[in-house]
Amino acid sequence: GVKVGVLALQGDVAEHITAFREALTDRPGSSVVPVRRVADLGDLDALAIPGGESTTISRLIEKNGLYEPIAGFEGGIFATCAGMVLLADRVDDPRVRPLSLIPMHVARNAFGRQVDSREAMLDVAGLAEPFRAVFIRAPAATEVGPGVEVLARIPEGIVAVRHGRKMAFAFHPELGGDLRLHRMFLENLRV
Ligand code: GLN
Repeated sequence: GVKVGVLALQGDVAEHITAFREALTDRPGSSVVPVRRVADLGDLDALAIPGGESTTISRLIEKNGLYEPIAGFEGGIFATCAGMVLLADRVDDPRVRPLSLIPMHVARNAFGRQVDSREAMLDVAGLAEPFRAVFIRAPAATEVGPGVEVLARIPEGIVAVRHGRKMAFAFHPELGGDLRLHRMFLENLRV
């Protein structure tokens, strides 16, 4: 089985737990657990970093002594929205201390302040059919480093990337019931 942790400091934690539980129903012995402290990271195959407020999550990561343990985490990482901001190595907001897990520059709220949310049928590399992506005050990567695979791009910027076992999405695959990106992520773990 696969053990997935969901960083449970702030944001849409419950939705991530539900989506991964659903995606893992055909893998006996798997589990999905909330992560709040360093000990919770110990035996995970993968960690999800939810959407929410990246400045708040960043502050709580520091407060809970999780910065170094997450920055050094070698399993898979599935990050959405605020999670994508945190995974970067450069962010346009000094209140976020990026975890530098994926070499990319990420701009917060890249869709402009007046656009709170939007849906788009997105072509994602590796998926046969477009993915209905929900963007909520979404970030975008403006630049990615070597070894980072761009999975989806729209005029506002890069909105899905893969770097080894780490994947980041500017939108919310944990909402909407389409688990193809979760399955792609789990395949990519090879555990
Ligand atoms: N705009 C938020 C941030 O930068 C992210 C929004 C979201 O996660 N839905 O933290």
